[in-house]
Amino acid sequence: AAKGDGPNTWRGYDPRLRAVLARTAARRSGLDKALSESSFELYYQPIVWLDDGDMGGFEALVRWPQPDGTVIPPDDFIPLAEATGQILPLGRWILRTATDQAARWNTIRLARGLAPIKISVNVSAHQLRDPGFPEEVGTALADAGLDPALLMVEATESALIDKAGIALANLRTLTHRGVGVSLDDFGTGYSSLSYLRDLPVSTLKIDKAFVDGVPDEPRQTALVKGIIGIAKSLTLMVVAEGVETAEQRRALARMGADLGQGYLYARPMPVAEASALIRAGRVTLPTRALGALAPE
Ligand code: C2E
Ligand code: MG
Ligand code: MG
Ligand code: MG
Repeated sequence: AAKGDGPNTWRGYDPRLRAVLARTAARRSGLDKALSESSFELYYQPIVWLDDGDMGGFEALVRWPQPDGTVIPPDDFIPLAEATGQILPLGRWILRTATDQAARWNTIRLARGLAPIKISVNVSAHQLRDPGFPEEVGTALADAGLDPALLMVEATESALIDKAGIALANLRTLTHRGVGVSLDDFGTGYSSLSYLRDLPVSTLKIDKAFVDGVPDEPRQTALVKGIIGIAKSLTLMVVAEGVETAEQRRALARMGADLGQGYLYARPMPVAEASALIRAGRVTLPTRALGALAPE
């Protein structure tokens, strides 16, 4: 080796690999800094009853705002945080912030005699496999003063594949305490119907990839109809993700989906805007999207 080469130098590596490693290292320390300065932000996207447009809840979606005003989306940093374990402190902050916000919003709803709304929080595989996870959720709920029944934990099928069985045990514990569990992105992973039979799940979220084809693609629409049928026969709630058009809303409602989430209603928004929606009491839609369900 050349003089001065230590065991930790990257000499000899492909320069492209070196660049990737350097970028990853920079982003990883960026995440550490953002964690210590709590400079993440939660956006909230409404989840709406498909039949009457009533507000059902919000999904909390994390963002990483940058000093230059741009915002890094979760797909660009959650996988890294997951790989480094930084998702544990980040996930704790997300859970505490979202439950706290939901409690405030429900105080406003209660004062107006409106039904409480739920808050949905995405959790990653690492969090689900952490034996301390149920306690963390319990503490967040207690500190926020939020009814466990108003929290939905969103997990993907892949996050539930865990040989040690901790993820499953954690979900059962949460379910026993009244917390809801949503199976996120349903249909995209290695979906197995045995999951639906065995998992302590209360809600199915049909992935946007399926919803996209409703109602124009007959095969896709038939699949969505079938998924809704299975969910209903297991008494699961169904949320359609990525609802973008009034036609989709109508077709999904007719097929029996309960709730929808998507750009038709609203994009994920900063907390101030979400609070304005809460004060308004409902999600205002273009009238064409709110029209009563015409009989088939
Ligand atoms: P997800 O949980 O399936 O969230 C739904 C994603 O679909 C969000 O993207 C949302 O902005 C987007 N979306 C909703 N409606 C529409 C629509 O009508 N059209 C289109 N084109 N997109 C729509 P986002 O916020 O970029 O989040 C991406 C993923 O990152 C999430 O997918 C989730 O897996 C993950 N994620 C987001 N926030 C968190 C978090 O707090 N913790 C963890 N562990 N993961 C998170
Ligand atoms: Mg209703
Ligand atoms: Mg989700
Ligand atoms: Mg999803």
